Amino acid sequence: MDTSDRESRREHADQLLESLADQGVVAVATTFVDNSGITRVKSVPLDRLPHLAAWGVGTSTSFDRFRLDDWIAGPTDGSGPVGDLRMIPDLRRLVPLAAQPGWAWAPADRYEQSGEPHPQCGRLLLDRLTEALAGQGISIQAAYEIEWVISDGLDDDAFTPGVRGPGYGMTRLIGVSDYSRDVISALVTQGVSVEQFHPEYAAGQLEVSVGAESPVDAADTSVLVRSTIRAVGEAYGLRTTYSPKVAVPGVGNGGHVHLSLWRDGQNLMAGGDGRLGLSAEGEAFSAGLLGHLPALLALGAPSPVSYLRLLPSHWAGVYACWGLENREAALRMVTGSTGSQPLAANVEVKCFDLLANPYLLLAGLLAAGSAGLTEHATLPDPVDVDPAALDEASLEKRGIHRLPVTLRESLDAFAADAALSTAFGTDLVDSIVAVRESELELFDGATDEELATATRWLH
Ligand code: GLU
Ligand code: MG
Repeated sequence: MDTSDRESRREHADQLLESLADQGVVAVATTFVDNSGITRVKSVPLDRLPHLAAWGVGTSTSFDRFRLDDWIAGPTDGSGPVGDLRMIPDLRRLVPLAAQPGWAWAPADRYEQSGEPHPQCGRLLLDRLTEALAGQGISIQAAYEIEWVISDGLDDDAFTPGVRGPGYGMTRLIGVSDYSRDVISALVTQGVSVEQFHPEYAAGQLEVSVGAESPVDAADTSVLVRSTIRAVGEAYGLRTTYSPKVAVPGVGNGGHVHLSLWRDGQNLMAGGDGRLGLSAEGEAFSAGLLGHLPALLALGAPSPVSYLRLLPSHWAGVYACWGLENREAALRMVTGSTGSQPLAANVEVKCFDLLANPYLLLAGLLAAGSAGLTEHATLPDPVDVDPAALDEASLEKRGIHRLPVTLRESLDAFAADAALSTAFGTDLVDSIVAVRESELELFDGATDEELATATRWLH
């Protein structure tokens, strides 16, 4: 970031001031997501926006080591409290917040004081990996599905489902009709392309799907959608949680990721000669994802509580395999209805949850997919049954493995994964590992109930 970059950012912000003021904006919040998946924020009054856009706002380097309970898993050499970064908002995504009148929001990139990119900024990392694929003529379309649970009462740490009624039931939608309308309306007003909204299967659970975008946009949208849902809930006295396991029995909250690969305007997940219509590149990318899933779980199921959700026959995709519309395969191929494939075909990675830092997770997925492309990786046979229905011998014969069942397992796979380590760099890998190790220590010996309770209201 040099002087002319700063000057053009300041000018851009200057041009936005009048319209933002006309829309009632008083203050601008800018966020990044830390390694434990918590969205952290700084804000400025509207008249400081040009300064914020050019110079950013200060933030401690120690945020790379923040744990979900705000403990800092800092380096033991005492360097933790020293140093500062600048959070610089991306004005392209600046938007007045419909459910927080007077506020606007923009996601931030983190830079060093020198103006150099902070090597541990997940958003800048994701942008670099997207650009590297673009250099090979490949673009990615991505989207996060958001599942969440609402609970009655803002001050009560106990979980009391904020809506009753059968999964996918109209009764349940009627029970939160005004709230649901306001969620959809706030998202649409903010320019989010809402594709679907429905009551889900778990107690108090709802879901929204949004349109696919570039990876950085998809991660930004996931942050915006989640904070919007939470803000609407506050107005209705409903507490929001994205925890993968709000209550121990039953299904959890997932954070499935949809990905498609494009070259010259053609979707490489459809119309190819491979199985289920995959092109050779679509297959190689998907095979890269499949091969690195155990390590990717340390990004996409980042906390001990994540593993309470990862149960067979819970639609959480806990087996490393792929299959057409198979909700028990970690990679669910979605090809769309006949005729819609060229636009609709994508791979849905189901094993992840919303404790994930959405930038780091997509960065990991792109690094894994890119490794698959480089290696011309191939997929095994697709699986068309729930793997839980197969015996050990059949699983073995088909090469289907259960994904890690603990954070310990996935973290070890992550630390040993050369493709991810190369893409992320040593400092970022070290911080991620430090935060995860610290969470493992924090929750060592905790019962499932204690885990669910301790993490219920943090994300
Ligand atoms: N709630 C399930 C999960 O934990 C997913 C249900 C679905 O496929 O939509 O991921
Ligand atoms: Mg769902």
